[in-house]
Amino acid sequence: MEQDFETTTQVILEVDFKSTPKVLLVDDDELVRAQLQAAISAAGFKVEAVADGAAALAAMEKEFAPVVITDRNMPGMDGLALCRAIRERRFPGYVYMLLLTAHDREEDILAGLEAGADDYLSKRASSAQLLARLRTAQRILGLERSLKDALAEKRQLAMTDALTGAHNRRYFMRRLNGEIQRAQRVGGELSILALDIDHFKSINDRYGHAAGDAVLREFVRRIDENLPRRTDWCARIGGEEFTVVLEGTDLTGAAKVAERLRAATADTPMPSDTGLIPTTVSIGVATLKMSPGKGQASVESLLGMADDCLYASKENGRNRVTLPEPSNSSSDE
Ligand code: GH3
Ligand code: MG
Ligand code: MG
Repeated sequence: MEQDFETTTQVILEVDFKSTPKVLLVDDDELVRAQLQAAISAAGFKVEAVADGAAALAAMEKEFAPVVITDRNMPGMDGLALCRAIRERRFPGYVYMLLLTAHDREEDILAGLEAGADDYLSKRASSAQLLARLRTAQRILGLERSLKDALAEKRQLAMTDALTGAHNRRYFMRRLNGEIQRAQRVGGELSILALDIDHFKSINDRYGHAAGDAVLREFVRRIDENLPRRTDWCARIGGEEFTVVLEGTDLTGAAKVAERLRAATADTPMPSDTGLIPTTVSIGVATLKMSPGKGQASVESLLGMADDCLYASKENGRNRVTLPEPSNSSSDE
């Protein structure tokens, strides 16, 4: 699941179809290549031309082209083999393939579509027809784009807390699990903070639920403001319970961030429609240090350690940070 989520995000970042898609033209005939290339570039597409299937695959690996126009008969890997090879591989997006036919023979057309081509084009076709078919390709790729955007938005919403805009518990579990597994594989340090707003029930009781919501939103804003590193992130895992994950950060670093977040909460009362609301937060810290391939850890164990420290912060008067005893920090060394 984690893998799936990561790859899709990557796809969306890598391919930008708002601009005209790149066309890869594959034909062993130099003259045909030159003519088609001229017509396609004149229409505003970026074109790369190669002479056979193997060169086309190599070009695709180097720079992805969402549109491939290929001749059928070529020395080495021919057009049908190329279509099949492209369909078998994973690319950053859909590849729209147009097969060029010399004689428009039905068996050629059927073989091409069977091999994975989306459409075919006669070599004798006018450039108007060529461009019309390229626009079809663009339309299909635009459809793919909008589906991917919609999916990304849906995924984003499923991972976001609606009230504060912070990541939610599901996101926290998935991403931290991925981070812990990574640390187990390659080694490294990771710290988490467990934060719980103090006497939040009294804030609701005294100022009203809407003011309580405003405090939660402002609290997240202040956390974000105080986490400038991209590898530090926050999630709301319960009503007034949050976690901050500090990737690649040791206990000393985590202690500093925790104190900064405590102070950012306590030093300035939270604004709300019902007036300023003095707010404090209790924090517990946990750190994980792994050597490559050694040791075991889980989100639950790490969260459990941070929660124990959070509990100690509550017990000792709230508005404070508690660090784990040296023997309690999780390490395989
Ligand atoms: P402690 O210092 O021990 O943490 O006390 P507390 O009052 O903060 O803890 P408790 O867990 O007893 O109460 C949490 C309260 O948070 C109760 C619940 O109604 C409130 N709460 C949970 N989610 C929301 C929310 O989305 N908005 C508002 N306004 N309140 C919420
Ligand atoms: Mg609380
Ligand atoms: Mg609580």
